[in-house]
Amino acid sequence: QRIAVLKETARGETRVSASPETVKKLVALGAEVAVEAGAGAVASFSDEEFRNAGAQVGPASEVLSGADIVFGVQGPDPAALSGVKPGAWVVAIMDPFGQRERVDAYAAAGLEALSMEFMPRITRAQSMDVLSSQSNLSGYKAVIAAADTYGRAFPMMMTAAGTVSAAKVFVMGVGVAGLQAIATARRLGAQVSATDVRAATREQILSLGAKPIFVENVAGIEGEGAGGYATEMSEEYQKAQAELVSSHIAKQDIVITTALIPGRAAPRLISDVQIATMKPGSVIFDLAVAQGGNVEGSVPDQVVEKHGVKIMGYSNTPAHLAADASALYARNLFNFLSAFWDKEQGGPVLDEEIGDAIRLTQGGKVVNPRLLA
Ligand code: NAD
Repeated sequence: QRIAVLKETARGETRVSASPETVKKLVALGAEVAVEAGAGAVASFSDEEFRNAGAQVGPASEVLSGADIVFGVQGPDPAALSGVKPGAWVVAIMDPFGQRERVDAYAAAGLEALSMEFMPRITRAQSMDVLSSQSNLSGYKAVIAAADTYGRAFPMMMTAAGTVSAAKVFVMGVGVAGLQAIATARRLGAQVSATDVRAATREQILSLGAKPIFVENVAGIEGEGAGGYATEMSEEYQKAQAELVSSHIAKQDIVITTALIPGRAAPRLISDVQIATMKPGSVIFDLAVAQGGNVEGSVPDQVVEKHGVKIMGYSNTPAHLAADASALYARNLFNFLSAFWDKEQGGPVLDEEIGDAIRLTQGGKVVNPRLLA
């Protein structure tokens, strides 16, 4: 099996889908790996390191020629994949709802597109879960970036010149990114509180030493749907949540929002009216800015100032930690291929549970039920 690792072409994408470490492991499995020259440059992996790990390094046309599997971070342009074997796999974060035309083009080209973010959230797939590995780093980076933009310190400091009080950080949405945001803000010495629609997160917030902020006494709020994901909430709940958040948010210095609902625009958690109640100098980091935003007025990759409050968010947060995000993403892909590697076939063979979940296209058609529904 020949695996092609492409240099990313999307604007602002700094990551790469293989590391020297995973190349070595893929070669040990019996694969042939070809890496496009310069693919790892921004993520601090040189062509020489890839070569030493056992990869061929060359231009895209050479790398793709005869490939059975193409690795990407984001889905590569289908038109740029000439030379690959018929029915070759393309493995990447495909953004299938946002990039539907590209999915159709993979089908038309007879390619088998596999979307890593559709990996089921089941125990045996944890090591292949790119959403977790990337969200974890995003939660960390959001706090670091907000701390850098904030004009005050995070920890309480008692100095000869007087006392600096601890920053108050509020994390909205306690999934993988939110948990890491809580932990990071705590390590920096902030006073941290957090909220989510899933009642199960209350214990997790407490266990990290933060204060849970929850809507009480509203019907139908367990908030957890298929696969442990959040569901859309009732109007009554949304109203109660908005009131609770309004009173809490006015006392916060930093707010990190992370709320996503798969396949839909991100829920709006903070309105302009609420922002106006915050203290001047406060910072909001909107981790959902690329999915439509949790915060009114947030703009990807800009610091927008409203009512003296700085609102920020990156269109691609993991890309701001290129080396670690690449290393973990590359391991997710290796763990995925190696779990399904069939020695007799000399390549990966997927089972139904995972194959049907992540396969977008096959035999010239779009086959994924989430795209056909
Ligand atoms: P996500 O990125 O889809 O969403 C982030 C958080 O925002 C979630 O906790 C969600 O409940 C919350 N949210 C949504 N709407 C909200 C609203 N209106 N107000 C406040 N919060 C809101 O979440 P995620 O990090 O991908 O985690 C989703 C689930 O998957 C969790 O239950 C997590 O424990 C689980 N998970 C399982 C595995 C595994 O077993 N392989 C791996 C990772 C995550």
